[in-house]
Amino acid sequence: MDFPDYQFQTDTLRRLAARYGLRRYAIGESLCGRAIMAADAGSGSQRVLLVGGVHGNEYLTVLAALRFLEEYAQKPTGVQLTVVPCLNPDGTQIALCTDKNWKANARGVDLNHNFDADWQQVKAKEIALGITKPSATRYGGVCPVSEPETRALVRLCEATRFERVLALHSQGREIYWDFGADTPPCCLQMAEQMAAVSGYQTAAPEDIATGGGFKDWFIRRFSRCGFTVEMGWGKNPLPLTDFEAEYPRVRQLLAVFTGSSCMKKEE
Ligand SMILES: [Zn+2]
Repeated sequence: MDFPDYQFQTDTLRRLAARYGLRRYAIGESLCGRAIMAADAGSGSQRVLLVGGVHGNEYLTVLAALRFLEEYAQKPTGVQLTVVPCLNPDGTQIALCTDKNWKANARGVDLNHNFDADWQQVKAKEIALGITKPSATRYGGVCPVSEPETRALVRLCEATRFERVLALHSQGREIYWDFGADTPPCCLQMAEQMAAVSGYQTAAPEDIATGGGFKDWFIRRFSRCGFTVEMGWGKNPLPLTDFEAEYPRVRQLLAVFTGSSCMKKEE
């Protein structure tokens, strides 16, 4: 069984880049100085982004992102796919080695509360829940985009015209697609297609999960589709032994994500 720590991530990306001729590069550095790596597979004028490992103890998503990168490299379907297998390499390492409940980065900031999308509202909800300082989960930082991992992903998206993005989380077998008025209507259709092939459910965000997230920021910033997919079923951290049984569902929905189009009419 693969153990998705930082060594495994870097070794796998190096192997895939060599084998399939992929472009492999760092989009930034984590708080502890680990490179946040990305790789591009396929070609085409349309570019899409897949992100895993946003939350430390959701490391099945790191395995899923790397597995899909390899499969897409073998059989690309007309879009250029960028994969960031692990946005939060420090938090993933903490969760794997020290604290199985750790989701945040090394400073105790939850990256999916740190993006600049209704951040003040998210902060108010955190405070109402008694989350006022760095912790394993749900603390959004002292200000939006305070964390190097958040900044790295924002920079990548500002520099690259992605048609849509998808971030893998766990768990719940759910597909989040909505961030209010900025959400293009066709995103629901794509979410429903992904649900139909995977058995996952389309979902409206829970209260605390609204705002501050990567998909939220991407939708608001670009008026394009951003998805959060909650992989797997059970209690985090899902055991590594769940991966092989769950991955086929994720593969199916990622095939829709990379295979269909959701373009605005005027473009
Ligand atoms: Zn998560």
